[in-house]
Parts: sequence; C-alpha cells; structure tokens
Amino acid sequence: MDSVNQVLLNEHILVGADLEAWLAQGGGEGLAAALRDPGAILAVIEQADLRGMGGAGFATHRKWAPVAAAPDGDKYIICNGNEDEPGTFKDRFLLEHTPHQVIEGALIAAAATRANHVVLYVNPHQPLALAMVRKAVEQWHAHPQFAELAQWVGGPVSLSVVPSSGLYIGGEETAVIASVEGGFPFPRRKPPFPAQHGVHGAPTVVNNTETLAHVPGILRHGAQWYRDLGLGNAAGTKLYSLSGDVLRPGLYELPMGTSLETLVFRHGGGMLQGKEFKAVFTGGPSNTLLTKRDLDVALDFDSVRQRRSRLGTGAMIVVSEGTSIVRKVAEYVSFFAQGSCGQCPPCKGGTFQLMRLLNRIDTGRGVRADLEALENLCRILPGSGRCGLIDGAVTVVDSSLHQFREEYDALLMA
Ligand code: SF4
Repeated sequence: MDSVNQVLLNEHILVGADLEAWLAQGGGEGLAAALRDPGAILAVIEQADLRGMGGAGFATHRKWAPVAAAPDGDKYIICNGNEDEPGTFKDRFLLEHTPHQVIEGALIAAAATRANHVVLYVNPHQPLALAMVRKAVEQWHAHPQFAELAQWVGGPVSLSVVPSSGLYIGGEETAVIASVEGGFPFPRRKPPFPAQHGVHGAPTVVNNTETLAHVPGILRHGAQWYRDLGLGNAAGTKLYSLSGDVLRPGLYELPMGTSLETLVFRHGGGMLQGKEFKAVFTGGPSNTLLTKRDLDVALDFDSVRQRRSRLGTGAMIVVSEGTSIVRKVAEYVSFFAQGSCGQCPPCKGGTFQLMRLLNRIDTGRGVRADLEALENLCRILPGSGRCGLIDGAVTVVDSSLHQFREEYDALLMA
C-alpha cells in the first residue's frame, strides 16, 4: 500500500478487531463527540460534503435526514459490505483491517437518526472480513459508549452481523433489505425508498462500508478538516482500487480529486512492461471508459461526470495498448448476464443478447447487423429493470462504442 495522505486508513495503524487498540489510537472520540451533541451530527456531515462511496456519490446527510425526521420506533442502519464487483476491493480491506472504525461510523449514523438497529451486512465469500466484524461487534456490546447510545435512542440498540448471499445483486440497496429480512435478495422498484419503507417497513439507511469508515474522523476532527483533505472542490480522501496492467496494483488512499495520471503513473508505477496506456474502466465494469485524453481528469464524482464517465466505487481497471476493448466488455457483460436475478424479462434476455452479440463480434463472426442490434439494445434497455444491473451492463457497452467504435468496426466480417 502506498499513499500520500492516509487518514481513512488511520495512518497505517490498522488494529484489526482489537477494540482497546482502536481506542488507544483515538477511536471512540468521534462517537463521543457525536453523543455530546447528537442534534448537530447531520449538519457536520453536510458541511464535510461526505458522499456515498458505493458508486452513486449521493450526499450522505441527505440519505440520513429523512430517517432522522421519521418518528421514533424501529429504524435501521445497514452497513453494506457485500462488495462483489470485479476490480473493487476497498470495503473488504476496511472490514478486515479496521472494523471498529466502520462500526463506530455506523453507531454515529444511528445516533444521527435515532436508529435502534445497526446491521453489518458482510459478504460470506470474504471469511476473514466476516470473522473480524463478528469479533469487533462482540467487543462493542460491552463498551460503555454503546449503552450511552441506547440511552440517547431511548431503548435498547441491536448491533448484529448478517452474512449476505454473496451474490452480486445482493449489494443493491433494496436487495440488501430483502436479505436482512431473511429472504432472497430480489431487488424491488423504488419508490418507496428505503428511508420510507425499509427493513420490515421501517425507515432504513443503507450505507456503503467506506462511507461509514469516513464518519468517525469527521466527527472527531471537524467538517473543515475533512474538506481540506480533498483537492480543488472535492472533499476528503478516497480509496481507489487500482488493478489491471499497472506495475503496482493495490488499494490507494489519496485526496479526493487526485488525477488519473497521478494514480496510475506515480502511485501505480506506470504501465506493465513499458506498454502504452490505453484506457481505464472507471468504477468497475458497470461504468465507463476513460482514455489517454482523460489522464488529467480529477478523480472526484463531479469532475469524472463532466467527462461523460463516473467515479463509481473508485475502482480503476487499467488496460494497455494491445488489449481488445471488445473482449473486455464481453467479459464484463457476461458477468452481468450471470448476475441477473431474472425477475425482469428485459434484463434476463437483454444481458444475454448483449453477451451473445459481443461474443460474435469479438470472435470475428459478427456482421454489420449485429453491431446495429447492439446499438439498438443500448437504446431500448436502460430503465427496463427494477434495479440498475441492466443499466450497468448497457453503460459499459455504450461507453466502449462511444470511445472505441473503430475496434468494433474492424472486427466485423466484410
Ligand atoms: Fe433482477 Fe435484472 Fe431486474 Fe435487477 S434489472 S431486478 S438484476 S432482473
């Protein structure tokens, strides 16, 4: 691991599931500050401009506010640790190495919303993360701050661990709720949104693991401290999962707004075997491509969006010259086709059709009509499913057609 500014990762002090060690490093101070003035937590999070790190970049305080405003009664905070997308490995690292930080963030969210249920939802295919979180949760049960939180909430607070299904679709927020209720993780249409109708109908917040890991530091050091960690207009730091054809792949905590070039060439050590940089799949396979022309882009939610791309989870899958974009996209779409839960016919059939057309073109058996059919699917499929899986599959195809259309043309049979 390498970084210029390790804050979220606690300056390399990764204490595992040892609560005493976490407290000795200043852990618990964020929760203590939150419990001294619970009514101020939302404003601090808003001033810090903390965004959701699971992909959407939605303002965290806006997710918490409607649950905070709901009448007292059952309310849920769920830490989403399902992380199952190729190229993204930040949440797993946090849960394995600093679970108390994540749990403290979830407890602060509970204080902000007066939620009486806190659930750590963890991918069972990551057994070390699951074991560390279970151990850490046990220790929090006996901690005096946990009793203090219950006092503020006005009754007992449950803090539990729920293993997810391990399926990709299980990370979608309505699927998370279905899983926590004990069912199969079928996504459902929104509205109603989880804040209005979540677990067993109760107001619910589903936050990404990294989002919650940022919270204790913000409460401990203040909103301005957090904002100042970012570059330009961006606030805080970000965990970038860097993989693909780079010399030093890994997880990098850097100021939000670090340029793509800095990430790949300074921290990642540049391209493998001196090859030329060709492109990067930003935010994992469900997102978009940036090319050489975009090396100067600041990796924050707004700047990346201005390049018709998305930061997503912060995953950056780098590909070098010589790599077939069509083949990469075919692999990613096959991942989506296998991940579809099958509830929506356009998704089940559409992802399969996308995969079939991409495979034909990639293997040199495609004709012009296949490419036209691919483009047509990109027009008609978005928005046709209950969740974003179908849109993710279309996005990566559409972006590749926009950036690398000539590669598709060159593969067609005459
Ligand atoms: Fe399932 Fe696809 Fe429908 Fe999502 S869009 S609910 S993954 S079938």
